[in-house]
Amino acid sequence: MELKKEIEKLKRERNAVVLAHNYQIQEVQEVADFVGDSLELARLSQKVNAKVIVFAGVYFMAETAKILNPEKTVLIPEKDARCPMADMVTAEEVRKLRKRYPDAAFVAYVNTNADVKAEVDIICTSANAVKVVESLPQKRIVFLPDKNLAHWVSLNTDKEIIPFYGYCYVHQDFDPEKIKQLKKEHPQALVLVHPEADPEVVALADQVLSTSGMLRYVEKSSAEEFIVVTEEGLLEMLRRKHPEKKILSPGMKGICRDMKKISLNSVYTSLKEMRYPVEVPEEVARRARKSIKRMLEIS
Ligand code: SF4
Repeated sequence: MELKKEIEKLKRERNAVVLAHNYQIQEVQEVADFVGDSLELARLSQKVNAKVIVFAGVYFMAETAKILNPEKTVLIPEKDARCPMADMVTAEEVRKLRKRYPDAAFVAYVNTNADVKAEVDIICTSANAVKVVESLPQKRIVFLPDKNLAHWVSLNTDKEIIPFYGYCYVHQDFDPEKIKQLKKEHPQALVLVHPEADPEVVALADQVLSTSGMLRYVEKSSAEEFIVVTEEGLLEMLRRKHPEKKILSPGMKGICRDMKKISLNSVYTSLKEMRYPVEVPEEVARRARKSIKRMLEIS
């Protein structure tokens, strides 16, 4: 309780806001001014009237906020909270692929580092990936880094999708057999799957949704039971918001170790000591900003 009060005091003193991803632990979400998915938080970072943004998420998210808000100080409470999928593709690899597929448009999932964002034509999130691909004039699309999201997009467009080989270790690990078993035990339950999951798991879905899409869907649905295939933080949030509904983990708890590196204590220390500031070289930021803004304009 004391720590939460101290955080609120520091937020006022520093003219700071805390933005937290849906996968953050409950007590971090409780001190956040806004909680959302990566698209919502990227948009919000531009609207908040604050000098300092503390980004409780993984590094590429804080970096995206910094690219969009070069005049604001953006802090990440744990500098090694990174997305392993984002680190699976480098700018050098994108440049090589550009030579191999000169006629293709390059679409990067928001889960990429700034120098990769700077090399592609446009960014997307899991919520708008199909819309982004459909907005492009090219028929061939190199989609990176997530092979599973690329597969999901390919099922929903006539364009040729050339996937990269990246994946999210949290979503990749869900076992289709366990989900089938759970569905037998709970035949009324609707299966909601994040598109980062393996195609075999996606094939079992009643709905394929981003994290915020899942929140909205459960809120509006008259169904009472859901098997929710994504990171456990979102399931915990759903259980808090809808105690009357049954939210089932899909045979195992999917935990993103990097998202969980951020604690109430590290948010407090971040505000107190103004650490760790996120910086992006201006030349990289300028080109990455173009790709991000192109996405924001169409979604
Ligand atoms: S859940 Fe997966 S995609 Fe999201 S930050 Fe963690 S590793 Fe990256």
